[in-house]
Amino acid sequence: MPTDTLAKTLCPYCGVGCGLEVTADARVRGDRAHPSTLGMVCVKGATVLESIGKDRLLYPMVRARLDEPFRQASWEEALALVVGRLRAASPESLCFYGSGQFVTEDYYVAQKLFKGCLGSNHIDANSRLCMSSAVSGYLQSLGSDGPPACYDDLDLTDCAFLVGTNTAECHPVLFNRLLKHRKQDLNSRLVVVDPRATPTAKAADLHLAIRPGSDIDLFNGIAHLILQWDRADQRFIGAHTQGFAAMAEVVRHYPPEAVARRCGITTAALELAARLWVNSARVLSLWSMGINQSIEGTAKVRALINLHLLTAQIGRPGSGPFSLTGQPNAMGGREAGGLSQLLPGYRSVADPDHRRQVEEHWQLPSGSIAARPGRTAWEMIEALEAGAVEVFWIAATNPAVSLPDLERTKAALLRSPFTVYQDCYYPTETARYAHVLLPATQWSEKTGTMTNSERRVTLCPAFHPPPGEARDDWQIFAEVGRRLGFAEQFAFADAAAVFAEFAALTRGRPCEMTGISHARLEREGPLQWPCPAGSAGTARLYTDWRFATPDARARFAACHARGLAEPPDPEYPFVLINGRLYGHWHTLTRTGRIEKLLNLYPEPFIEIHPRDAGKLGLGEGDWVEVRSRRGAIRLPARLTLAVAPGTVFVPMHWGALWAEAAEVNALTHPESDPISGQPEVKSCAVQLSAL
Ligand code: SF4
Repeated sequence: MPTDTLAKTLCPYCGVGCGLEVTADARVRGDRAHPSTLGMVCVKGATVLESIGKDRLLYPMVRARLDEPFRQASWEEALALVVGRLRAASPESLCFYGSGQFVTEDYYVAQKLFKGCLGSNHIDANSRLCMSSAVSGYLQSLGSDGPPACYDDLDLTDCAFLVGTNTAECHPVLFNRLLKHRKQDLNSRLVVVDPRATPTAKAADLHLAIRPGSDIDLFNGIAHLILQWDRADQRFIGAHTQGFAAMAEVVRHYPPEAVARRCGITTAALELAARLWVNSARVLSLWSMGINQSIEGTAKVRALINLHLLTAQIGRPGSGPFSLTGQPNAMGGREAGGLSQLLPGYRSVADPDHRRQVEEHWQLPSGSIAARPGRTAWEMIEALEAGAVEVFWIAATNPAVSLPDLERTKAALLRSPFTVYQDCYYPTETARYAHVLLPATQWSEKTGTMTNSERRVTLCPAFHPPPGEARDDWQIFAEVGRRLGFAEQFAFADAAAVFAEFAALTRGRPCEMTGISHARLEREGPLQWPCPAGSAGTARLYTDWRFATPDARARFAACHARGLAEPPDPEYPFVLINGRLYGHWHTLTRTGRIEKLLNLYPEPFIEIHPRDAGKLGLGEGDWVEVRSRRGAIRLPARLTLAVAPGTVFVPMHWGALWAEAAEVNALTHPESDPISGQPEVKSCAVQLSAL
């Protein structure tokens, strides 16, 4: 370790999970020894320290009613209030909404408190908006969650197939690694599938600017051509998969001409994409929210995995399906059971054996964990509307900006009889809806682990004193648990003890981490799971082509395309899509407080094709009202060929704290994938009018 290094840690923004070194004089640089990212870092990671001292919530605050001002309270008073409400409420009336910003230890203790001790599975996370379709897609196709590939595969692939991911802006370090590989291997190819000509798409050998919502048409169309050209790997299919015949019957209905028409691309472009896939020895597909945030997100993930199964492009260096996680520790959340249908160790609440295993580990009576999956994030909003919630506990996330259909979301939040909001920043848009504010530590102030997109676990130590009276999230949950009478279950000496208990619960599971401990991570550096005791970690999954299903065979999906939940129509003729910008993060709670980042994109905007702008009489910078069936916002126009006529793009970051009437989720709808419960926040139908 360089002599001026104060701490080695992980960037707390995106799922790339770049290793960082923080110096004694408060500089941040990439950690060259971190095996995932080898010293690379983007502008967000490089500036992250600038946000930690600004606008912090320092003390517990309470109020009896939302129209009263907060008053400072002691931890004793605030926790007594929370515990009293929890005791008085039924398990069915408790909801907890957490975050991919948690460290794994936070996630684990929260699961134990809610699912174990309080008997409520109504504990979900903002990962529901991010990766839950990838989770269900992996589970149904491969038998388990968990990305099969690793970052080294970016350097080894012959064809990187990027779908619904603006990697250049959202996962820049990985994108730069891909570009470097292309420079070194002139035969490698980059295909980008995205309705918008993003910076990622502009760097591609082939950009398929498909119509929003036509991804399954495209994947089934490529599968059709692979079969038509007799390029499927029948040996692999026969030995290692199930469901081929049903899938082949479905894709028979996706001939190139019809697919090209539905996708809005040429037949030649479709055939070129299919040729690049079948002629490349190693194909790596990468995706993120453009696939997951959809009413058919699970089916999209599975239709993409179909292509890998058809061509045996999985479990080998340089190949495989690879979801790019949005948040820094959404992966750790999945491992710790941080969605309402999950239990720690990639277990399911619906599985009686899984519940028994976890209850025994937690030393709780049989039947403590409820058998039914809990409410998803949006179902919690519906439960608030129905008056079915007594306590709503929100931590480390900002749903008053990030959930869809914001007018409805905010009205539901106003109906909550008692909301606890546990966060590190104040003010935020969500604090407005809280009765109790609990100050939490954040990255740099607490010790814990995070898992990045390639399943690599990194220890993130505390190296900065917490401000005011802020406490670690897991310590707050543990203290509440002890006050509820579960002293033994929450007698953790420190975060290392929490991790040790969690890791023991992963024994024999696909995400086994019994070989990982805080002490080993500190001694040896980050490790990839599965990592049983004595293992050096595992770079790739399914290298023996034995999948995590009962018969070890992967499953083809036979799925037809449904398209968008809300397609354009004469009244709302435009498709609105949305996404992130380079330098910004989610709802601006951090990046909005860093001047350099704010200056990159100081204001929201809407991208419109010049032809549409001409019809509406709009020039560059003119203000536009964007209206959907749910609400309206006002934005200045940017005229660009990056979007096709009929499609507009709005960045997702701005909430009411940062700009007036610019919240993209005022427009979006909550229609969700029936399997993953992930809402289609990516797109909706809108009308535009000049102001
Ligand atoms: Fe942080 Fe992601 Fe940037 Fe890496 S790429 S420095 S993890 S924001």
